[in-house]
Amino acid sequence: MVDLRTFNLSGTLSALSLLFRPSQCIPQAVVRNFNDLPLPLSRAFDNDKRFGKVNIRAVVLDKDDCFARPGENEIAPEFKAQFTRLRAAYPHPSMLIVSNTAGTPSMDPDLTSSALLAAATSVPVLAHRTKKPGCSAEIMAYFHSHAELRDLKPEEVAIVGDRLATDVVLANRMGAYAVWVREGVVAKEEKSLFARWEYGIHDWLKKRGVQSPVPGSPFE
Ligand SMILES: [Mg+2]
Repeated sequence: MVDLRTFNLSGTLSALSLLFRPSQCIPQAVVRNFNDLPLPLSRAFDNDKRFGKVNIRAVVLDKDDCFARPGENEIAPEFKAQFTRLRAAYPHPSMLIVSNTAGTPSMDPDLTSSALLAAATSVPVLAHRTKKPGCSAEIMAYFHSHAELRDLKPEEVAIVGDRLATDVVLANRMGAYAVWVREGVVAKEEKSLFARWEYGIHDWLKKRGVQSPVPGSPFE
């Protein structure tokens, strides 16, 4: 039986499309965990010469199993100091939390979680109708609504998250840069089956030479 609250149509369609375009689930950078994110974030992409000079002006952060335990609306204690550094590097309105739980109509209909999360992090939480990876228009509309980011291009956005099928596919569809946080807060053996499959899929594709798309490239 499919639980309609947690069922993610956008995510399911994305999983199917990956069969045909596997590069969509390859991130432009990989870090071990949230504490290993380099600052500024553009440094994460230094090793791939295809990208040229990367200028990250805005950051989208996933919540669950990225900087917080799933189901909690606070920064995990081990990531608090790093979170503060990241927020200082990307001051308002350049950082936005986009979660498939907090801020979605099915999981957070009265936006209680998103209000708690915004209060705990001092970062806005996007209320969005379409779950990741389908919400790129809502994300760009948020950034473009602020004068200092009115001219922001997708390739000036970094999306940080722990899931290939949602966070990384979102970035690649948008033409943004993805940073995959390989180890979140939860131990590997406690992760969902889908999350555990992603390690194997990623490593299998990489071994076969599948590369991430080049953000902003008209040829992708
Ligand atoms: Mg997550």
